[in-house]
Amino acid sequence: MVLTAEQKKENKRLTNKRYREKNKEKLNEINRLKAKLYREKNKEKIKEYRDKYQKNNKEKLKKKRETDEGRKNTRKASWKHHGLIWESEDEYNDIYNRYLNSLRCEKCSCEYTENNKKCMDHDHNTGKFRNVLCIACNVVTDVKISKNNRTGVVNISYNKKQKKWIYAKIKNNKKITKYFKYFIQAVIFKREYEESQI
Ligand SMILES: [Zn+2]
Repeated sequence: MVLTAEQKKENKRLTNKRYREKNKEKLNEINRLKAKLYREKNKEKIKEYRDKYQKNNKEKLKKKRETDEGRKNTRKASWKHHGLIWESEDEYNDIYNRYLNSLRCEKCSCEYTENNKKCMDHDHNTGKFRNVLCIACNVVTDVKISKNNRTGVVNISYNKKQKKWIYAKIKNNKKITKYFKYFIQAVIFKREYEESQI
């Protein structure tokens, strides 16, 4: 039996389709790597495109951020930025739901307030989520003060003469300096200020 050109074409199409179905995982992995390589090679171009898109779609993006889904994604980016690691989307959803539904600090049981907000406590070595805590509890969990008065916290120092804790940071050529009587006030300010800048 001699196949027509049409039939040959159809056979080839079916063979390719079967191959793709059989090697789905492998091909996905290859595509993923290709995309990664492309992103690495075209960093500048991608950034330029993204900046332009963000500039031209300010209102649209703002509306999107204010939806539940948008808030979830913003939170996700912020946690990632702070070093929280999750293995799967399901794990992230579990953590996020626990965060959303938390009404009281899981350590001291206080209710969250405007100043003492809820935040994520994670192991800084492994990136693994531990608890949903109030800021004050989270600060105590995280921060160790070393003997020679150096705080171990970036941007916070102690001025012996003034007997004050100082938070100082330069951003966009502007220096922000704040003075506090207590160390914990400086840490709480740092947390809130830096989180508001993300
Ligand atoms: Zn607490």
